[in-house]
Amino acid sequence: DGYYNKQFIEMSAIGSGGFGTVFKVKHRLDDKIYAVKKVQFGDLSEDKKQKVVKEVKSLAKLDSEFVVKYYNSWLESNHLFIQMEFCSQSLQTLLTDKPIVFQRQPEDQMNTFEELLECVQYIHESVPQVIHRDLKPDNILIYPKFTFNRFIKLCDFGLATDHDINKQTASNDHTLGVGTLRYISPEVFHRKQYNHKTDIYSLALIGEQIFSIDPQISHSSQAIGSEFNKYYGNLYQTLQSMLSSPDYNQRPECREVLAKHNEWSIDKTVVTNHKEFNE
Ligand code: ATP
Ligand code: MG
Ligand code: MG
Repeated sequence: DGYYNKQFIEMSAIGSGGFGTVFKVKHRLDDKIYAVKKVQFGDLSEDKKQKVVKEVKSLAKLDSEFVVKYYNSWLESNHLFIQMEFCSQSLQTLLTDKPIVFQRQPEDQMNTFEELLECVQYIHESVPQVIHRDLKPDNILIYPKFTFNRFIKLCDFGLATDHDINKQTASNDHTLGVGTLRYISPEVFHRKQYNHKTDIYSLALIGEQIFSIDPQISHSSQAIGSEFNKYYGNLYQTLQSMLSSPDYNQRPECREVLAKHNEWSIDKTVVTNHKEFNE
């Protein structure tokens, strides 16, 4: 038996995409639960191998509170394994399983959007710059513990393939049951030239979902009251600018959106209910 089976007991599959599958595993020695991503490797072309290895290097380099914690990676029987911390929930599970709880808390929505901007700012400003390219609620994980006073972090760095994009445009998985919502930018969808601004487009779509700005979902601000109306007005405008297309260079940087967000911010001292999501 290889290292993987010697070290870990495989418990269940969490999710899978173009190249890989993520498993929930238990370490035989330390008894802790981890997530291990198993990526097809041996059969790939040299080009793709290099790409996969580059992304492991990104994950190792992005070691921070903004990114899922990375422990180890190794090659074994035609696969590349990536050991990470295990997060029991993603933003997707929050948006679909607990939409009512989530939508009722405007502070949670604001803080989540702000944290998301901070995460993406961090990868966009790293050297060399990392473009995520596949930002979507499944790839945004919820902290297992309320550490760093933060709620969310990113996973799935640039392992996105054309296969993933095809799957995403064909599927209905990312909706709350009200029509198709895809998270990829028009330039990536049409396989045109793109840059890090593709992530800004995805962020706006995720933002719309967090704030339930969807004509078919009742607007949560109605339940919140006028205190937040100014915030939502500014937010709406900013989200529109983040969706600018085809001239994607017109989209603002994360840093710019964050600066504006701080200007309109309401009461940042509000204690949020993030903790209850982890229970
Ligand atoms: P896809 O292309 O469909 O996004 P993928 O093969 O690129 O899938 P990941 O996105 O890295 O693989 O992982 C698949 C899913 O597993 C993620 O969307 C996420 O919800 C979940 N996942 C990934 N890493 C972890 C983790 N460390 N803890 C808990 N869940 C995770
Ligand atoms: Mg993914
Ligand atoms: Mg992926």
